[in-house]
Formats: sequence, structure tokens, C-alpha cells
Amino acid sequence: MSEICHTYSQQLMGTTVSLQLFVENLPAVSAVFQTIQALETRLTVNRNHSEVMSINHAAGSQPVVVSKLVFDLIRQAKQASLLPHSCFNFAIGPLVKLWKIGFNGHNVPPAEEIAQRLTLANPELIKLNEKNHTVFLTRTGMEIDLGAIAKGYIADITKLVLASYGIHQAIINCGGNVLTIGSSPLSSNQQWHIGLKRPFAAADSLLGILHVQNKSVVTSGIYERYFILNEKLYHHIIDPQSGYPLDNELQSVTIISDNSLTGDIYSTILYGLGVERGLKELEKHQYMGAIFVTKDKKIIIKSNQHFEFKSLADDYQICSYELN
Ligand code: FAD
Ligand code: MG
Repeated sequence: MSEICHTYSQQLMGTTVSLQLFVENLPAVSAVFQTIQALETRLTVNRNHSEVMSINHAAGSQPVVVSKLVFDLIRQAKQASLLPHSCFNFAIGPLVKLWKIGFNGHNVPPAEEIAQRLTLANPELIKLNEKNHTVFLTRTGMEIDLGAIAKGYIADITKLVLASYGIHQAIINCGGNVLTIGSSPLSSNQQWHIGLKRPFAAADSLLGILHVQNKSVVTSGIYERYFILNEKLYHHIIDPQSGYPLDNELQSVTIISDNSLTGDIYSTILYGLGVERGLKELEKHQYMGAIFVTKDKKIIIKSNQHFEFKSLADDYQICSYELN
């Protein structure tokens, strides 16, 4: 407990990104934030110019050459979008831009407009050329959106940046994507303690604490970006079948995995699958653990031995599904 923790934060990607280190190393800190900033500049769809926006602007007209870093992420986004039963869809951009959830001007769009944009949200219509690193959106109006995957990718890259400075103990938090690096110097069992937020409550109000070592902890939920109209809640994870926010029993899914990109992809996929099908899917992925939080106040845990969870919420019922 005598370790000194150095915390740094910056507003990036529409959220607060924070970094905790246990050595003073300002060049490493500035390299991390510069890397995140540079990646945001390439990947964002919330500005008019970026590598991803140059692909979107050329929709229906021509393929666009992108950097290897951007192409790699797009390739993985396409793979995740083509998985059977996946609600993950990187071609969802036209609908995200229509609903504007989490941004000024959010609204419930007319059903005809949703139906029209759904025809554009088809990952099969995005053509990748591995050799030339080109990406082609083959219909006018198509848009790539990497909001469900880019923070995980970026968190994994910051781990490499820190390693290049000889730093192997740290936490990077990209707003819902927490990556713990190495073991914690703060606790006797070397586990990091990561809070699981209570949905729709103050930021420091927790459902419990996860104990992990060298793991990513990524949450997808309905309580950070949403709006309420006529007593109905509309959140930012869009069902690529209906074009409306996914509607099921869940408030959030947290994925505990080695890398944050995987966690980011599967937090969205398992959110879409719901508890029963999500647990079944997890059977195929023993390298991940998950926590499902339901609207009727159940916390369903499948750790696959990747974490421990200490509950702080008497009003939630804990259900544990462990492997024998
Ligand atoms: P996740 O559950 O991981 O993903 C949800 C997000 O994925 C949605 O917000 C949407 O963008 C997209 N999505 C929705 N449905 C699907 C689907 N079915 N399949 C796949 N993806 C889907 N926010 C700002 O307010 N201002 C900014 O300037 C800004 N810039 C950003 C720049 C970058 C590079 C990134 C990565 C994010 C930025 N954001 C910004 C935040 C972004 O708009 C999303 O809200 C955020 O990435 C959602 O992450 P999450 O972990 O909360 O949700
Ligand atoms: Mg995600």
C-alpha cells in the first residue's frame, strides 16, 4: 500500500480517458495520450475528416486506401459483423447518425426512414482488399461506425506503448473500457480492483468490485448514452434487424478477457444475445468471463476463472454459473 499512484486524464473520444501508473514517467504518459489522440483522429466518425470518414464520403463511388492500422481494425470489425447471430454490425453508421443517441438532436426517426437506412446497414456490401488496404462501401449513403470496437483496439495499443517504455503495471480507462496491465502493486494478492457501476446511478455508486489481474474489463450498457421519450428509454446499441435500440432484459454486459478488442466486440454481441443465449455463446469462449446485469435486478456471473466478483448491492440477486 506504500506504492504511489500517478493518475493522468484527458478528454478524448467523447469521454474521460485516464491512466494510472506507479512510476513517474512523463514521456510514457505523453506517448500514450498522443497515441490515443492520433488514433482518434484516424478512426472517428464524429468529425468530418478522418480515415474512416474518407471511406464514408466515398460510399457508392470508389474504394479508399487506408493505413494498415485502420485496415486491421476494419477487417476485424467485418469478421465480427459476419459471425452467426451477431448483433454487432460495423455498417450500422446510417442508423447511428439518424438516431443521434448521445449527441445533440437525438430523436425517434420516422419508421420509413429507419427502414430505408436498414437496407444500407449491410456488412456484406463493404468490400475489403487485403492487398491494397482499400475499403469500398458499395452503396451511396453507407457508413462505417467503429464506436463499438475502437476503444478496445486503442486500449490494447496503449499497452504496447507502455511496454516500449518498460512499464508493465498500469490501468488505462477509456470510458467503459478498462485495461489492467500486469499485477497490482496496490493489493497484497496483486489483483486490481475494478468497480462495476450501478446502472442509472451516480458514477461512484457501484454494484460490486471485480478482482482481476492483467485483464481487460469492458462494459456495454444502456445507461450511459440514452434518452427518454414518452416514458420509453432509447439507448445507443441499435438492433441491425429492426433499426431500433435493442430491446431485451439486460441493462449491461461486462466482458473480462485478455485483450480489450475482444472484450469490446463481445460486450456488444452478448448484450444483443441476452442472458440465455449469451451464456451459451460463452461456453465456446472459455478465454472470457462475463457479468450480465438485468433490468429485474439480477447479476449473472460466469467467470470462467478470469475474475472474482464481490457484490456491494443487497438489492440485486447474484446468480453464478461456473464450469465444473
Ligand atoms: P459499445 O456498446 O461498445 O458500442 C456502442 C456504440 O457502437 C454506439 O454508440 C454506436 O456508435 C455503435 N453501435 C450501435 N449499434 C451497434 C451495433 N449493432 N453494432 C456495432 N456498433 C454499434 N462521443 C462523443 O460524444 N463525441 C465525440 O467526439 C466522440 N468521438 C469518438 C471518437 C472515437 C474514435 C471513438 C471510438 C468514440 C467516440 N465517441 C465520441 C463515443 C462514441 O460515439 C460511442 O458512444 C462510444 O464509442 C460507445 O462506446 P461504448 O463502449 O459505450 O459502447
Ligand atoms: Mg463494444
